[in-house]
Amino acid sequence: MLFGRKKRKPILIPAKKVKEWKYTTCNYCSTGCAIEIGLDDDGKIVTSRGHARADVNRGKLCIKGILEHDLFHSPGRGSQPLMRATKQEKFQPASWDQALDTSAAKIREIQEKYGRDSFAVVSTGQLLTEEFYTLGKLVRGCIGTNNYDGNTTLCMASAVSGYKRSFGSDGPPGCYDDFEHTECLMAFGSNLPEQHPIIYWRLKEAREKRHFPMIVIDPRVTMLAQFADIHLPITPGTDCVLINAMLYVMFDEGLQDQAYIDAHTNGFEELKVTVADYDPIQAQHICGIDEDMIRHVARLYAKAGCAMSIWTMGINQSTHGSDGVANINNLNLVTGNIGKPGGTSLSITGQCNAMGTREWSSCSGLPGYRALKNTRHRQEIANFWGVDESFFPEKRGLTQTDIFPAIESGEIRGLWLVATNPLTSMANQPRIRKMFEKLDFLIVQDVYEDVETNEYADVFLPAAVWAEKEGCHTNTERRVNLTRNVIAPYGDSKPDFWIFNQMAKRFENGNKIYFPETPEGAFEEMKHLSIGAGRTLDISGMSYDKIEQAKGIQWPYSQGDDSLKGSPRLYTDGQYQTPDGRTNLISVKFRDNNEKPDEKYPFWCNSGRVVEHFHTRTRTGKIGNCNKFSPTPYMEINPDAAEALGVEHQTYVRLVSRRGDAVVLAQLTHRVPRDMVFIPFHFHDCVNRLTLGLLDPYSRQPAFKQCAVRIEQVDQVEAAQLNLERRSF
Ligand code: SF4
Repeated sequence: MLFGRKKRKPILIPAKKVKEWKYTTCNYCSTGCAIEIGLDDDGKIVTSRGHARADVNRGKLCIKGILEHDLFHSPGRGSQPLMRATKQEKFQPASWDQALDTSAAKIREIQEKYGRDSFAVVSTGQLLTEEFYTLGKLVRGCIGTNNYDGNTTLCMASAVSGYKRSFGSDGPPGCYDDFEHTECLMAFGSNLPEQHPIIYWRLKEAREKRHFPMIVIDPRVTMLAQFADIHLPITPGTDCVLINAMLYVMFDEGLQDQAYIDAHTNGFEELKVTVADYDPIQAQHICGIDEDMIRHVARLYAKAGCAMSIWTMGINQSTHGSDGVANINNLNLVTGNIGKPGGTSLSITGQCNAMGTREWSSCSGLPGYRALKNTRHRQEIANFWGVDESFFPEKRGLTQTDIFPAIESGEIRGLWLVATNPLTSMANQPRIRKMFEKLDFLIVQDVYEDVETNEYADVFLPAAVWAEKEGCHTNTERRVNLTRNVIAPYGDSKPDFWIFNQMAKRFENGNKIYFPETPEGAFEEMKHLSIGAGRTLDISGMSYDKIEQAKGIQWPYSQGDDSLKGSPRLYTDGQYQTPDGRTNLISVKFRDNNEKPDEKYPFWCNSGRVVEHFHTRTRTGKIGNCNKFSPTPYMEINPDAAEALGVEHQTYVRLVSRRGDAVVLAQLTHRVPRDMVFIPFHFHDCVNRLTLGLLDPYSRQPAFKQCAVRIEQVDQVEAAQLNLERRSF
């Protein structure tokens, strides 16, 4: 008898009459899949496919990538600039000159009246790297505000901060090829099959060839947890306790790699003292994982010839996300698992070009991982751009999560949002809405004019999307890959690169500084700025043609290197980016500082992504075949809890927190424990009406995944009507 796939007929792809395939990189998640877009005789896009010779995806794509070419003519696209004279009026069409002149004049007016930092810019992880570089030049070199950040603060800031504290520099040290070598993998708060399906496919394929233990740490029985050998359903927010207890076992039983510790680390004695307080006998009562299991996984990890950790938002989106990352790094450093095949500490990044913004946007510093507080770095960039060094601030300004409270308190009066939608993505939406009402002037630059935040914009700048423009992305494993320009921008929308260049011309410094006219010109500048100085971020040997030929190259890749191979791993020589070249073991103590369930609000509210969604659904919500699989805001609830409350499967309920409420459909499943609900986080007017979003002290990233809610019954007809209205776009 035949089961499954063998029984089905193969899927036949109809003849699309493709005349030419054009090379691109996926513009959704950070996996970095290479996509070829097929055009027919008339230059019309008729299909797309995963590139078979690209090392990342080897011909595969997830549902978002397969349908990505539907973006170009999806509903809600912005086709012309829009402006309104007062917040009460409707938008009116404007020319690009009118929209840019008004925006620049208003920025200058606000800065003259309230100071340079009273105007803020918040960007994204969605642009192409050359666009990030150009925006950085505009903001740091021309506009001159220090309150400039990316929405990556909502997803990756803790990983950046943890890497910097441990290794002295950002930059994930490992790669997907490590799955082929590792002898043990530990995944913290990462649901790869839904968040990064093609990375999961790489992992699954490696385990099918050669089984190795996979341990998944997650309070929810995620899809990845279902495939694990061991699932540790940890109590939310206690990862530091679990890791410290594992370190306790390793030190107690002498399982650490003392030679690596002695040769390459600082802080070992202090770490030993700290973890001495985390005996698994006590730790089990805090983290919810029993003593024997803690000992078992600690031994399994330490005794493996090589072991690796991966993590995503379960670690980063926490009040101690940066500590969590540093502690995962500790685990790998004390077992000698950095810089070797199968031994690494690999943060799985969120957005497609979160890495590009980290490397080149100047949000947290200056291009190429340069620091504002470093005089030499400031001078290098000032000289190269041709601005006075004193124009740069000497330390970083506010992050996105601090910019919004500064709007509330009146320090920030104007804001420019680029490809980000904080009205949906920020925690505590009722409070964020009030902040938008206080702004004197808001520019929204986005592909879609129906993006929710546009409700408060004075000027809307319509941007081109994905392959309507040209440039690079950097993926999770530091691979720089290229998107070729395949199709002209929709309507009168423009590439973000063009918009930044045009805006620069409207500022005094913009006429002194050279802005390259093409993305490739900007890439050449970035290459120049990456040469030498001992930094790992070196792209000086790359070119657009080389990148396309290799289907992506991993940095560092230096001038004169024609191998097209790049560098799969960092720190292979045990030399780190710290002053003494040694890495830091950071002692981490558990801080129990978040909202927890109580009598009034008895459920944990957890959130995450489902495979069909991305980036507050601005794009995926418009693509028919993505949207139709997950169109309705819902929550997972344990059947026992549902029964106790009289909640039935597929009925609507109201969730209430101390901040607000949200109506969702109940889905009964044993994936969540009895005291937890889980909600996909991309729906507007949903989970972020409930979240508290306390901030990590280092990274300023919000703890989206921990707050307390109660469940109430609602009128089913009214709730269904509300849901229909939500879906009406
Ligand atoms: Fe795109 Fe990520 Fe899907 Fe690959 S896994 S096709 S990069 S969304």
